[in-house]
Amino acid sequence: MVDKVVLVTGGTRGIGRACAEAFAREGVKTALCGRTEAAAQEAAADIGGGAKGYEADITDPGAVNELFKQVARDLGPVNVLVNNAGITRDGLLIRMKDADWDAVLQTNLNGAFYCCRAAARDMLKQRGGRIINMSSIIGLRGQAGQANYAAAKAGLVGLTKSLAQEFASRNVTVNAVCPGYIETDMTEAMTDEMKEAALSRIPLGRVGTSEDVAAAVQFLASDAAGYITGAVLTVDGGLAM
Ligand code: NDP
Repeated sequence: MVDKVVLVTGGTRGIGRACAEAFAREGVKTALCGRTEAAAQEAAADIGGGAKGYEADITDPGAVNELFKQVARDLGPVNVLVNNAGITRDGLLIRMKDADWDAVLQTNLNGAFYCCRAAARDMLKQRGGRIINMSSIIGLRGQAGQANYAAAKAGLVGLTKSLAQEFASRNVTVNAVCPGYIETDMTEAMTDEMKEAALSRIPLGRVGTSEDVAAAVQFLASDAAGYITGAVLTVDGGLAM
């Protein structure tokens, strides 16, 4: 892995940051992005190990292409892409605004598509690469109040399986990780009752950490996972069983 270049989208906080940290600790050339230069630079500096931070809004296909060019110039072509950046705009469907639907699909699904397309060019040419898409158990099971998020995350599973088939002959694997309830800024917005209810349904009896998810991502990026493609790996303490 040490000769590889990893790009984690949404690496300024939470799960993405833990992924970037895990790779940098391993000695891998690590790049991360976020929507602001300051947050991306600060996260990269905190992580250390030569990690590099980039400002890139993944909802902008032009910015995504520029990001991949810049990473290639600084570290080399991306060998491992972790499509992690994501947002929520929760609400019941009858009250959901077009803007909330569009923002969640644009970030969580279209953004991942732009990044996969940008990464694939070099990966297919080099006949090797790893793409790991951060889906969610909500994409597998649905969730009242999260129709936009569930649709985007289910879309990521379809994207993952399709690209796994398209890219397999070039030794590019594409897998999805589906976290359950992980303690980050994203889940901080839940009410105490929602948190308690979620916790009570987790067989392993605890909330997940960003590091729990990063360990799965690290495995799927490793040589040990070379024969795994099109897989959907839940990291949820058994919640979605
Ligand atoms: P956080 O809200 O803590 O972090 C989200 C990250 O995404 C930040 O680094 C943010 O960077 C980045 N981001 C958001 N929009 C964009 C954008 N347009 N362009 C670039 N970066 C962007 O979320 P989590 O760490 O909790 O979640 C990470 C992923 O895991 C998401 O895809 C989420 O859906 C998924 N997930 C999380 C679960 C959980 O329980 N926490 C459960 C299941 C899945 P910045 O703000 O600096 O731009």
